[in-house]
Amino acid sequence: MTPFTYSPEPHVRRHGPQGYADAASYRPWLRDEFTFRCVYCLFREQWGRLRGTFDVEHFRPIASQPGDRLSYDNLLYGCTACNTGKGKQLVPDPLTALVCGDVWVNEDGTIEGRTRQARRLIRVLGLDDREYTEFRLVWLEIVGLAAREDPELYRADGLPQRPAERRPPAPARRQQPAGRNRAVVLCAKAEGYPAGNVLTATLT
Ligand SMILES: [Zn+2]
Repeated sequence: MTPFTYSPEPHVRRHGPQGYADAASYRPWLRDEFTFRCVYCLFREQWGRLRGTFDVEHFRPIASQPGDRLSYDNLLYGCTACNTGKGKQLVPDPLTALVCGDVWVNEDGTIEGRTRQARRLIRVLGLDDREYTEFRLVWLEIVGLAAREDPELYRADGLPQRPAERRPPAPARRQQPAGRNRAVVLCAKAEGYPAGNVLTATLT
């Protein structure tokens, strides 16, 4: 697991506030909902200046969906770079498209999309451009260094704790979508940080 390991499962919202008069008022909920990270590139609040760095983003543009302006389910938390790159475009939902295994960040900072939707998001937002790639590489190295040399800093920066090793679940036929097998990718850490490890089990 690295700071750029995407969620192993599609995101299911934990909160559902409503009744606020403006989208900005949902920000505290969204920060917690998305663990203080950009839903697209996983940039963390701790890595930069909070003010002016993160936006409350309308997934479905309000220009075409004005009724969704204050709908919590239409709000995302994203860094300004990603929000600007997306703009008013309709793109695949990052909460389902950007899951571990469908998108993967390598140790050199490069990013790979392994589904059409993940590749489209990467292309539209430019997540594979030089600036994003170098940014990821720098933080992979910084976090790796902190993990090895300075555990206090590693914790203080809100960086991920070393998770307990997990094993792929036993095959469970009831978990698979009807009509096809489902590849379940467990982003577990079999060895120490920062080298990530992907364990893949195909349910049959
Ligand atoms: Zn971002």
